[in-house]
Amino acid sequence: MKTVTTTVLANRKISPDFYELVFSWKSSWGEPVPGNFLELKVNNNTAPMLRRPFAFSGFSAETETASLIYQVRGTSTNLLTEKREGDSIGIIAPLGNGFSIDGDSPIIAVAGGVGLGPILFAANEATKAGKKVTFVTVRFGKILMRFSVPITVLKVFLEMWFNIFRHSQQVR
Ligand SMILES: Cc1cc2nc3c(=O)[nH]c(=O)nc-3n(C[C@H](O)[C@H](O)[C@H](O)COP(=O)(O)OP(=O)(O)OC[C@H]3O[C@@H](n4cnc5c(N)ncnc54)[C@H](O)[C@@H]3O)c2cc1C
Repeated sequence: MKTVTTTVLANRKISPDFYELVFSWKSSWGEPVPGNFLELKVNNNTAPMLRRPFAFSGFSAETETASLIYQVRGTSTNLLTEKREGDSIGIIAPLGNGFSIDGDSPIIAVAGGVGLGPILFAANEATKAGKKVTFVTVRFGKILMRFSVPITVLKVFLEMWFNIFRHSQQVR
């Protein structure tokens, strides 16, 4: 766990109320794993006074970047939407125990809302490790396409939706 200042690399709107924040991450700060989170202070003012927690949605040691997906809820997240490339943000991270996916069984990853980030991170890591992942999400169907999700995840995801669609046609 470290208290550091990171630099915003991108802050993309991915749906009416969700954003993806990509920021610099030095390897010397530790290696975030799925389930880890950070505490973020959106500015140096007294309001908002407290840091806000957000889960990591990705991390790359090669590019020294990390990301999170956030929903605009209140004071801090509204201010966060105003962050631009090159802006600084103070964070404490990585926090939490995280989780790992062991074994060779196929994985069904189910996520939505503010829970999308850490599960997307886990699904991507499992795919990189050669595991078969089915990503189940409803609200974020279109958004998922906008991430650099490994093709195996997307492919299985599309296949699964096609199967659900076909099944629903048969039931009618
Ligand atoms: C471990 C952990 C990980 C998390 N990971 C993520 C993540 O990956 N992505 C994500 O989007 N979120 C995540 N969250 C939730 C996130 O921390 C909160 O959404 C965020 O702190 C909101 O901060 P804010 O300043 O924008 O909202 P706040 O201003 O703190 O408001 C939060 C909510 O309370 C309501 N509220 C505020 N004041 C009042 C009041 N006086 N009366 C009634 N209601 C009020 C607001 O309308 C809003 O809905 C996580 C939380 C935890 C604990």
